[in-house]
Amino acid sequence: MDFQPLLEEIAATLQPELGAQGRVADYIPALGRVPADRFGIALRTVDGEEAHAGDSTTGFSIQSISKLFSLTLGMRELGEALWDRIGREPSGNPFNSLVQLESEHGVPRNPFINAGAIAIADRLVSRLDAKAVTLELLSGLCGEQVAYDEEVAASEAATGFRNFALANFMKSFGRIDNAVSEVLDVYFHHCALRMSCLQLARATGYLCRDGRHPYGGAPVLTDRQARRVNALMLTCGTYDAAGEFAFRIGLPCKSGVGGGIVAVVPDRLTLCVWSPALEPSGNSLLGMKALEMFTARTGLSVF
Ligand code: GLN
Repeated sequence: MDFQPLLEEIAATLQPELGAQGRVADYIPALGRVPADRFGIALRTVDGEEAHAGDSTTGFSIQSISKLFSLTLGMRELGEALWDRIGREPSGNPFNSLVQLESEHGVPRNPFINAGAIAIADRLVSRLDAKAVTLELLSGLCGEQVAYDEEVAASEAATGFRNFALANFMKSFGRIDNAVSEVLDVYFHHCALRMSCLQLARATGYLCRDGRHPYGGAPVLTDRQARRVNALMLTCGTYDAAGEFAFRIGLPCKSGVGGGIVAVVPDRLTLCVWSPALEPSGNSLLGMKALEMFTARTGLSVF
């Protein structure tokens, strides 16, 4: 299938709607000043074919998409022991919610809500130089140097009161081993990774290849681990809109409040869309529309 004309058509169809609806995340200035009318889309197939359209090479703040990479590193470092302190159920609550943590004794519902990613960051801090290892992993996965946006990381730290609350609350249950400031420094930097649609479509390639490296390097995950990441993306990857994503799009997806969404078609391709205006759950509004158009037109689905 030649995907290039389809991606161009999707970008052209959505063009008149750019910036018309939804809200750009503005909890920190660096995100709030991103123009609402941006749109990019990119994919890379298992055969290495690439297609992209719109602002597909513009770097944006990947935010919660980084939770995919934190989980990947956590699975590699800890194996099954990772699940001692993290569940695998959808939360049905906002990504930064505190409510379930009390009844569940400081064990986050899944790795893709803030509390889950913070719990993984803690376990990474105990084992490695998490900020450096993440950059090394991602740069190797997309073949280009990836960097943190230090302005975003600093603003996340200055305004991340809820994330401090989540980390302290988990620590009160004995579920965080390291200093909260050190753990959150890693978490905030992960949120502040800056990548483009094309880089993300390349870097997530191991998820459509049963864990194999997209450019032939050492395996990133085992096939079983990669399937599990996809399962969690489908059930928990888009906050409390995971049901809507499965219904409308039918693919494992992971979103971030920077407006990016990564989608996986197992054994076929990985796809990334970016458009900064969000729907109320924090997912890109036009990103969802673009993915829906893509799966409707191609018939690709995990169902
Ligand atoms: N930096 C945001 C936070 O910690 C990330 C949330 C997101 O992308 N859903 O709340």
